[in-house]
Amino acid sequence: MHEFTVRTQARAQFIDITAEVERAVKQRGLQAGSVLVFVPHTTAGITINENADPEVVADILAGLERLVPRRGNYRHSEGNSDAHIKASMMGFSVMVPMEAGRLVLGTWQGIYFCEFDGPRARKVILQTLRTKDEA
Ligand code: ZN
Repeated sequence: MHEFTVRTQARAQFIDITAEVERAVKQRGLQAGSVLVFVPHTTAGITINENADPEVVADILAGLERLVPRRGNYRHSEGNSDAHIKASMMGFSVMVPMEAGRLVLGTWQGIYFCEFDGPRARKVILQTLRTKDEA
């Protein structure tokens, strides 16, 4: 298991962690298999989406805000129910295949840490899974 910290700078923000994930799995020497990227928080999530045009993540954040406004008729006393809902919509883990020591992602794909109640220092946990047929 490997863990690293993500320092977010805004209440809601997507941070591309693809390079950090790839660096970590390279250090572990995993050639083939997959990596589980897990976020151990309830108001932050993780997703994979386009990393070519930064307006895409801006649109996702804006779309989530339209679907789940910050202020609403929520019951949770902490006042951050929108962040809990958005985090669950994104999910708390992604699994990415690895081949020849590299993440197998689509040309336009990046792995995004999704902050919904920042700014904070957050954790990301990686677990590599080696395939049986690897030499
Ligand atoms: Zn809360």
